[in-house]
Amino acid sequence: MKRITYLLLLSLLLAGCSSGPKVKYVFYFIGDGMGVNEVIGTNLYNEANGREVVNFTQFPVVNFITTVSANSLVTDSSAAGTALATGTKINNSALGQTPDGTPTPNLTEWAHAAGFGTGVATSVGVNHATPASFVAHAPSRSDYEDIAVQMIDSPVDFMAGAAFLVQRGTGHDSAFFEHKADSAGIAIFKGPGAIKDIDLTAPRALCLSAKEEESIPYAIDRKEDDTRLADFTDAGIRYLESRYGKKGFFFMIEGGKIDYAGHGNDAATCFQEVNDMAESVDLALAFLARYPKETLIVITADHETGGLMLGSGRYEMHPDRLSKQHACVDELTNLFRAQFFPTEKPFKTPTWEAVKDFFNEQLGLWGEVEVNERTENELKGIYDRTFGKGGDRNLTEENLYSSNFRIVADVVRSLDRAAGYQWSFGSHSGSPVGLYVTGAGAEEFNTVKDNAEIAPLIAKLAGYAR
Ligand SMILES: [Zn+2]
Repeated sequence: MKRITYLLLLSLLLAGCSSGPKVKYVFYFIGDGMGVNEVIGTNLYNEANGREVVNFTQFPVVNFITTVSANSLVTDSSAAGTALATGTKINNSALGQTPDGTPTPNLTEWAHAAGFGTGVATSVGVNHATPASFVAHAPSRSDYEDIAVQMIDSPVDFMAGAAFLVQRGTGHDSAFFEHKADSAGIAIFKGPGAIKDIDLTAPRALCLSAKEEESIPYAIDRKEDDTRLADFTDAGIRYLESRYGKKGFFFMIEGGKIDYAGHGNDAATCFQEVNDMAESVDLALAFLARYPKETLIVITADHETGGLMLGSGRYEMHPDRLSKQHACVDELTNLFRAQFFPTEKPFKTPTWEAVKDFFNEQLGLWGEVEVNERTENELKGIYDRTFGKGGDRNLTEENLYSSNFRIVADVVRSLDRAAGYQWSFGSHSGSPVGLYVTGAGAEEFNTVKDNAEIAPLIAKLAGYAR
């Protein structure tokens, strides 16, 4: 009898070992545009500013992955988002489907089919490329309205983002789709207060910014009443745990504006966005501390943005030189306009000295941060092209998400260079990105080499129906 019990125990033990970790709760963070240098650059910035290192750089598994799409060595967010969500490579600008129109099943679909709760959250539009890659299927990522309808009609339990993005010319706004969501029985919570008080019994939940905005403000510009990514993450965790605590859930969270700051070549703003996503990672880590054997946290990026280099041609860096910047390049453009193009007074050409004083005040350039002769000449050249005889007072620089005074954009890039951060361009690069994993099954990610390998591995570890 004793011997039988022993054998039974032994076989149970062995069965337990061979089945591997039992992952019930999956957190999948995607830093849009968050290359390796954006993360290490943030650590240098934090160290110089008395802040802690980025939490996920301390994870037990730190690896890197390639990001190529089906038709390009340099991916966009929808092709990379689809690879991360489905394990299938597709062409740039498509979303959740192959060129012949075949939908590629994704993690929320697999998790839902197996009875798990599902959620997606982002700091940009709720139907922007990355969250949409986890829910919808469309020939183009720009089919915002079709994607919005698919998300509303999907079984995803929790969704969060700034607002619904709409297409030009349709006459629709976010409210149009919020009304559709409401009619579909989705409870809507807008702004930090309402999101904090989310109804945990609602059959489905949608959290949005209270202001109708395409993305929530950058962390560097944040005001008291602004919605934060961490508000979405906190509500999502509480909601999913209360409804699916027994069975488990899959939750994707995107730091969507790291990419925007990369397109705008704005290092301090970019680093504060990385820190902002890390704040949401902290919430996942608190959850992991409660369920250490059943929680998996995977953090990666869809691609790198801006070709950010650490170093700008000298054997030195000075990340402390970014410490005076407290507004993003777009906000600096607004401040520049308010100062030099006052609407209530007739326009008066500002002197070069007045322009330098403005940037000293805002960024410390020409103050604590010295400007070398070459940079001074370059910037003075842009000043002349803007305010000189026959100049274009509206000399602007377009990036993917905003339009700024050329002189403001160039001054911010000059500050970054003085701090040792050099941007290469305003678009995506093909550089590999980091993969940071902790929790149950983390060691399995040591062998992952490409973005298409992650989704199938998560599905395997969590036992999703594929
Ligand atoms: Zn981008």
